[in-house]
Amino acid sequence: MGCTAIVDGKRVVGAFLPDEEWRRVVKLSKQRQVFMPDTKLPALAKTVRWRGGITRFFSHFPGETPEGYTCNESPEHAAQKLAIYARLQELGFTVELEAGIDDWRADVLVGPSAFGPSLAIEVQLTRQSAQVTYERTEQRSASGVPTLWLFGKNASTGHVGADLLASNPVFVAEDATHAAAIAQSVCSGAAFFDDLSGFEQTPARPIGVKVACKCGLSWLRPIGVVLLPNRIRGDLKPVYVSCSVTSAKRRGRSITMSEAEDHLRRYLKVFWRAAETYGITVGEFRIATRVRTDAGAVYRRDYACPQCRLRVHTKGTIGFGTPIPGDELVRCPLPVVAHVDARPALKLEPAWFAEPHTPKVESVMSNAEWKVRFIDRARASMLMLAPEDGVY
Ligand SMILES: [Zn+2]
Repeated sequence: MGCTAIVDGKRVVGAFLPDEEWRRVVKLSKQRQVFMPDTKLPALAKTVRWRGGITRFFSHFPGETPEGYTCNESPEHAAQKLAIYARLQELGFTVELEAGIDDWRADVLVGPSAFGPSLAIEVQLTRQSAQVTYERTEQRSASGVPTLWLFGKNASTGHVGADLLASNPVFVAEDATHAAAIAQSVCSGAAFFDDLSGFEQTPARPIGVKVACKCGLSWLRPIGVVLLPNRIRGDLKPVYVSCSVTSAKRRGRSITMSEAEDHLRRYLKVFWRAAETYGITVGEFRIATRVRTDAGAVYRRDYACPQCRLRVHTKGTIGFGTPIPGDELVRCPLPVVAHVDARPALKLEPAWFAEPHTPKVESVMSNAEWKVRFIDRARASMLMLAPEDGVY
């Protein structure tokens, strides 16, 4: 089935014909004078009822479909395709339905737009393997035409390899209206591809406690950092990353000690920077150790006085704890002291967006509230422990 056919030597879109003209096309099709645009075989004009209304289709006559011809388009598929076509046409773009170059055919083929000289648009509501998506995208690329993929929300995720993704937009469309809006964003140049490089320099705040050691030295015990990806992309929220403890599992797999070390060390730069800014020494850190807790195994890292090596724990079942939970810690009002690569902590994939996400500034607690709820309570729960034998 398709949305278009050749009538009197010209391609027509069934859905957009005036009723009277459609009745004439139906009559002509019964006389085998209407043709399928791709196979050039006689086309049968018909209407299909579905929950969204009535859609006009063209198909081969029963029993005349050529072998190997696959086209099992659903009414939903047709509705999205037509909505995209109608929207782009209305905006003045050159658009063709079910058209292509060389040996391929796209749902909608767009002429010059902000995206480039041409763009193939594909609505994909049924499952399609990543391999097929890749091959079809490459096929069009070979003709110099990028593809905009619009996957259904329940269809395959439509994974396109990183090399193709930057030049071939991939979106999930909720319905026909959404599909048309996405096509409009892409063709008008509003859509953008986030390759995540902006997060290489993510502002970060340090969360630590100043320890007044018995030996007379004051030093900074790192607890964690608050990363502010929201200041780069407004759809994201501040994230707290601990420098003291990390789960011993990632995605169901046990991590090695060196992976745990990498994780716990990753944002210490924020503390070196804080130390410079505030003229304070950062505590020495010990090799992470694996500890069992009620919440499962974790790796924890101790920090010790750089002069006398007394360690500091804060109240908590495994030797440390923060007085407030992580979702409150992100409201820490301490100033941003460094910019760090937040990508390992954010777990984001490069992706396309229909509109830019305006950066947002996060809300924080007042300094007074932070002092009462965090600093004072953390200090009150500090526990000095004798130096431990072992590797520093
Ligand atoms: Zn000390």
